[in-house]
Amino acid sequence: MGRIRVLSDNIANKIAAGEVVERPASVVKELLENSLDAGATDIRIDVENAGRRLLRITDDGCGMLRDDALLAFERHATSKLHEVKDLDAIATLGFRGEALPSIASVCRLTLETRAEDESTGTRIEIAGGKMLSCEEIGAVRGTVITVRDLFYNVPARKKFLRSEQTELAHIASLVTHYSLAHPAKSFELRNGAANLLNVTPVDTLRERVFQVFGTQTLDELIDLGVIEKAVPFDPEADPVRFRLEGFVSRPQVQKNNRNSIFIFVNGRLIRDRLLLHALSAAYFNLMPAGCFPFALVFLTCDAGQVDVNVHPAKTEVRFHHQTVVHDFVRDGIRDRLIATRPAPAFAPSVQPAAYMPFSEFTQALQDAEPVVPEITDVSEAPVFSLRPEPGPPARFDFTTLPEPTVAKVPDTHGTFPPEVLGDNTASLTSLQDLRALGQLHNSFILAVGRDGLWIIDQHVAHERILFEKVLRQMAAGRVEVQSLLMPVVIDLTAGQQIEYARIAGELAAAGFETEPFGNRTIAVKAAPAAVPPGCLEQVLFEILEIAEKELRSVSLEAFRRGVAASIACRAAIKINMPLDATKMDWLIRELAATDYPMACPHGRPIALQYSTKEILKAFHRI
Ligand code: ADP
Ligand code: MG
Repeated sequence: MGRIRVLSDNIANKIAAGEVVERPASVVKELLENSLDAGATDIRIDVENAGRRLLRITDDGCGMLRDDALLAFERHATSKLHEVKDLDAIATLGFRGEALPSIASVCRLTLETRAEDESTGTRIEIAGGKMLSCEEIGAVRGTVITVRDLFYNVPARKKFLRSEQTELAHIASLVTHYSLAHPAKSFELRNGAANLLNVTPVDTLRERVFQVFGTQTLDELIDLGVIEKAVPFDPEADPVRFRLEGFVSRPQVQKNNRNSIFIFVNGRLIRDRLLLHALSAAYFNLMPAGCFPFALVFLTCDAGQVDVNVHPAKTEVRFHHQTVVHDFVRDGIRDRLIATRPAPAFAPSVQPAAYMPFSEFTQALQDAEPVVPEITDVSEAPVFSLRPEPGPPARFDFTTLPEPTVAKVPDTHGTFPPEVLGDNTASLTSLQDLRALGQLHNSFILAVGRDGLWIIDQHVAHERILFEKVLRQMAAGRVEVQSLLMPVVIDLTAGQQIEYARIAGELAAAGFETEPFGNRTIAVKAAPAAVPPGCLEQVLFEILEIAEKELRSVSLEAFRRGVAASIACRAAIKINMPLDATKMDWLIRELAATDYPMACPHGRPIALQYSTKEILKAFHRI
């Protein structure tokens, strides 16, 4: 890293300045980002009382020269930015030169540092922003910053701190996620004697996810692999490249807020409306509205494509080509979700992971407010109420849970060939080989395949089949229509009348032939063939309601999906309906042929699998 300089007023004024120190986690964030910018590969964070009493970060980065160490505490002193044009392509996490002076003004701070080029190190002590001492010390290369008594001189700020557990959850979340962004580096986090995170360098993100969350979580996640796109914005120049990597949860992992979504843009943890929306759009119709996935996604692009100088806490960004980025992220994730076709397991795996289970870990984080603020107005149409996730109280020491012992009974009744055990991760690709055995309560189809026992909800299965069929027909402009012998006359409210006038064209495209019939009344002359005549009014009212919600905020595509979902729901076979073997087999075959046989358009699961392995475990045969 180059030498530190104080920015000229001209640049300083162009920086989205802001207060960075709100809570212990914000101190950790700034110091951690500095260590990463300094090229550290081994970072250790010690806190006491969740950072209120003590917070120390030790790195093996480039360190600072004596003069630089003194300069670092001046406002707008940075080694990362020199000219106004540098702001156009910021490649470091920090760039404002504000964090150290801000932090030093609200605590007792000690800096110990040594750069490669100097034979001795430097130790500086500051309290409440006042320099107390500066001396030469013996030190290894790198930097240690110790923050004691945070907010000792700003009691008002101290009062706003939350419980120790909440503050610690913020810190743990932050360090954990930066550790996920840098699998090749080691991170250690301790609160007093408790070791909260200790990860050594690994080659892949997958291995780091395993280190942090354990194998059970990996089973709940879908690896996005590497998704790339090159866009030739300018025919004269090289195309602009975008890359997406990371993990997202199977749609069955449903969170009731966005706190389990971690998005990194060029290595920076951010909270971005556009990308949150892209993620929700990827799960659209795969997860109930109002539920959210777990996501750990890394978007990489040329630094010139994204402006990070838009938010005081550097937690928001602005892309130059918003639509391209949004659609790239949405389609990349959605295609992976559709290609993977993961099936929800019927029973949770018998053996809990050795690490803190994913649900517990994220539950702990959910109890805390997000470090980067929650965005609440991402446009979505909440239709279903949320199911709060029951979970045990937060626990952080997730490296020390003992492995439970499961009794193994010696097998005296023959053994199963190994292929019976198969792969524990169920995939809906095996749906096409299922054989229906019968129905449970005339509502659920029981079926068997090579990989176990399946239970299929006949209503939602049919719903998914019809949903995709209607959508396809709508996209092709060829909806199967039935003419009504007698037009159905429907009275509208004033609000519905307005929506009707607005979407008449779209209604026609969806297969509804309607015309105004006096004041606030319409006559329906033809409707999509799939809609049972008795449900016509209900379906139309639902569509008008969707129009009100969706077209204001979201896209035509979202509207069409809503319409298709509404038609499919009314037209699908109901529960409590006996089906013969031919019908059951037809339903399974058709379901297997859908793009996404794992969830109904409202996000409910369609098919549950009880794998052979789980059955054997439950009978203590393995
Ligand atoms: P910024 O990160 O925006 O430049 P900071 O106030 O966070 O501003 O840090 C000021 C400067 O101090 C940095 O530009 C960097 O040169 C130096 N610095 C801070 N922390 C470290 C560290 N851990 N190792 C080496 N240099 C550091
Ligand atoms: Mg910084």
